[in-house]
Amino acid sequence: MTEQHWPEVYKKLGVKPVINAQSWVTSLGGSLMRPEVLRAMDEAAGAFVDMQHLNRAAGEVVARACGADMGLVTAGCAAAEVLMAASCMTGIDEARVEQLPDTTGMKNEVLLFRGQRNRYDGSFEVPGAKIVEFGVGDSARPYHLEAAFTENTCAVAYVIGPFIKPGIGLEKTIEIAHAHGVPVIVDAAAEIPPRDNLSRFIKMGADMVAFSGGKGLGGPQSAGLLAGRKDLMEAAYLNSLNLDSPKAGIGRPMKVSKENIVGMVTALELYMDTDEAALIESWRSKAKYVARRLEGIDGLRVVIEDTPVDRQGPQPVIYFERGWSGPSPAEIRQTLAEGDPVIHVGGGNEINVVMTNVQDGEEEIIADRLLEALR
Ligand SMILES: *Cc1c(COP(=O)(O)O)cnc(C)c1O
Repeated sequence: MTEQHWPEVYKKLGVKPVINAQSWVTSLGGSLMRPEVLRAMDEAAGAFVDMQHLNRAAGEVVARACGADMGLVTAGCAAAEVLMAASCMTGIDEARVEQLPDTTGMKNEVLLFRGQRNRYDGSFEVPGAKIVEFGVGDSARPYHLEAAFTENTCAVAYVIGPFIKPGIGLEKTIEIAHAHGVPVIVDAAAEIPPRDNLSRFIKMGADMVAFSGGKGLGGPQSAGLLAGRKDLMEAAYLNSLNLDSPKAGIGRPMKVSKENIVGMVTALELYMDTDEAALIESWRSKAKYVARRLEGIDGLRVVIEDTPVDRQGPQPVIYFERGWSGPSPAEIRQTLAEGDPVIHVGGGNEINVVMTNVQDGEEEIIADRLLEALR
């Protein structure tokens, strides 16, 4: 290691810290928790509590933040996806809760627009549900969704995320699903900031919404939020926390520790008071710094992009033009990832430097190393 601090706990394991310019990705550790969150978790670790009671109390904080009837801290957004699908199949029928993942006698089809398929959607199928796709390629029309309903439809899923296609849009999806008496469940894992999104989709009429806790919210990496309609949320509690039942529910392998629950609600409460504009400005100023350092290289076009949804905050995007004769984007990423310190940036045919997790001063190291790698 040259510049970067190597925490003793990682050094003992021989695991190097990395500079994360790739966003809140799971593979690099999500986000960093603020000291207040860590202190709260430390405090929580010092006492035993009734976990049902703790979950209900934390759930109320989540519900308030999301403007929903009820909330729950989950073991990440993917765990919340499992619970959403399970809840739409079982309702509050305890016999059904015990029966999962065998869905005999239950409606078990989750409709999902083909253009929103993603690497996490298998979580909807964990409790025994089946995803039924609608739409043609990257587009969909309302009649495609209409035609997908059967007597076994239990939910319509909707995914919002970077470069995920909107299809017919959430509003239209809700209108059509509700006309069929079917709930809409939303995966909005990485859609905070903006803070308004916590309540936006519920306000639009979504029945259940899930967020990652360890991305923009800055909670524990293995925590998340689920919020929604009372009857479905009661079902989510049954599927994860029916601690008195002889048979644990489908959510049992996704339990959340008391420390993580407390860390999550603390991070959420802190986030509600965060100056988002100042936070985004700090990303923009790092983005401008890197873009300026990369100016004037033949064959490269460097643009600061900040498209809502697709780009996670203002970031320099490096496009490789026809005249470019240097190393490919993949080669450059590899050089950075094999260097010291290790740097991870994003992109496929482009390179993007996502600033959400870049610590103060690291933008200089990134610019130096990018300039070297580009030569
Ligand atoms: C990150 C992500 C998930 C998984 O969230 P976890 O909190 O890591 O479980 C699910 N869906 C989408 C769209 C994501 O971006």
